Amino acid sequence: MSVKALGSVSEGQPDRYRLVLSDVQNFVQCMLATQANHVVHDGKLVKGCFIRLKQYQANSVKGKRILIILDLEVIENLGTMEKIGDPVAVKVVEEEDVKPNNTTIAGNGFYGNKPQPQQPAAHDRALPSRTGPSSSLSSHGNIYPIEALSPYQHKWTIKARVTSKSDIRTWNKPNSTGKLFSVNLLDETGEIKATGFGEQCDAFYDLFQEGHVYYITSPCRVSMAKKQFSNLPNDYELMFERDTVVEKAEDQDNVPQVRYNFSSIADLQSVEKDSTIDVIAVLKDVGETSQIVSKTTQKPYDKRELTLVDDTGYSVKLTIWGKTATTFDANPESVVAFKGAKVSDFGGRSLSLLSSGTMSLDPDIPEAHKLKGWYDSQGRTESFNSHSNMAGTGTAGGRQETLKNIAQIRDENLGMSDEVDYFSTRATIVYIKQDSFCYPACLSEGCSKKVTDMGDGTWRCEKCNIGHPRPEYRYIMSLNVSDHTGQLWLSAFDDVGKLVMGMTADQLMELKENDPVGLERAFEQANCKMLTFRCRARTDTYQDQSRVRYQVSGANPVNYSVEAAKMVELIKGYGTD
Ligand SMILES: [Zn+2]
Repeated sequence: MSVKALGSVSEGQPDRYRLVLSDVQNFVQCMLATQANHVVHDGKLVKGCFIRLKQYQANSVKGKRILIILDLEVIENLGTMEKIGDPVAVKVVEEEDVKPNNTTIAGNGFYGNKPQPQQPAAHDRALPSRTGPSSSLSSHGNIYPIEALSPYQHKWTIKARVTSKSDIRTWNKPNSTGKLFSVNLLDETGEIKATGFGEQCDAFYDLFQEGHVYYITSPCRVSMAKKQFSNLPNDYELMFERDTVVEKAEDQDNVPQVRYNFSSIADLQSVEKDSTIDVIAVLKDVGETSQIVSKTTQKPYDKRELTLVDDTGYSVKLTIWGKTATTFDANPESVVAFKGAKVSDFGGRSLSLLSSGTMSLDPDIPEAHKLKGWYDSQGRTESFNSHSNMAGTGTAGGRQETLKNIAQIRDENLGMSDEVDYFSTRATIVYIKQDSFCYPACLSEGCSKKVTDMGDGTWRCEKCNIGHPRPEYRYIMSLNVSDHTGQLWLSAFDDVGKLVMGMTADQLMELKENDPVGLERAFEQANCKMLTFRCRARTDTYQDQSRVRYQVSGANPVNYSVEAAKMVELIKGYGTD
């Protein structure tokens, strides 16, 4: 294929590129999906260059056939050429109901999204006539792909499947009250979130059903997505207006069902915390509904904990929330598929269904039949491993050990109730108390009790009732740490002390006794280290004085590339571009 011409940027849409592709015999109008814009920005996609199409979607926009190019590769070593041959516009072959070409959801950021097999060359097949004006959708000739929606187009209809529908949420503030609900909509080209407020909430809430296909016709506002409230990759979102038309489609086919990229339960160990995954499993156990009050918002939440198993021999807890929890009505041993579950490292690995996530009971997909067969033949009597590395009580989904900044730790009064609170914090060490950083400990296997210098060359352990010729020094440190919101004193034991100081407490004591300059240098080098600390907060009472102590149970160096990627997502959430 050769690129015949790179069209100019269309007006008012800095991020949309049109291009014309030619394969010598024919040419076709194309639109570059925004996710592929980098080939233009890199200066690689230029007039006359050669490209390999990797993912595309055939579409009809305003009755014209165009390809939406989701992924392509510029073959730079072929250079550029003038137009080859005398290509003519591609002739549309009206085939009846050609299935839409397989394509991944644009910009899908889900974990485990496997690279799609390369598409066969485009000339091997005719363009599908899925949404052509001459098809059965005559009253909806102007079907737009979700990918093509933007604030600059005012007359459009999309045909999309509802992949998830939220509960109605209400708010009551001094200057406003109201309600809203939202749906996630899916077609071949992508997903978009749509929200209805007030009257539109009343008008559309009952009409939309999860899994069904609808036509949605403008007027309907397209605005920048508020990414902090959504896990969809779309830059835009929809807001229903008074005259928005929503109709259930007479044919429910030809729009993809929910797409899954399943991770097995055994694989969760290697999935990074906070990733979003899809999982399919047999329901082993269903907990009772209970209510918790969010420390952050002070609002009560209904929750329910499910135990899931699969044929990898592992089990995992998954928490569902709100109406999904209270109305949950599936029997143990059912197969359930979840799309959009967040991975936490609480209890080793656990899952929490996102509010935008969906649950499908006994879905009619091959993975479900396979699991059912496995469970009936052997799974029912199997015993399962879990990822837990600590007692598995409390909440699945990591509501207890979330990353907090220092101001949040104080504002949320962590550790001030009767219960122990768990949290992580990423902070920089600014000071280490140097007068007492270790204690002499018993050398007996598994003891670590403090030993007493008997003055006769032995160190005595009361518990083991023996004397040792020398103690083993173990860290017990007070660290002053800081982030952009405040400062906090943490106490740390031996494992964390070794990580902070880069040497054992024995080695540091050696310096203290023989090399005061070396000791000074060791403390200086430990300062300004940034670590992620896993902590417990609880109130200690000592001589009638109560105070909160923050005990470090573990620490990790910061993985800067991972954190930078998260920060990029966070910044995107503010929609500043
Ligand atoms: Zn001992």
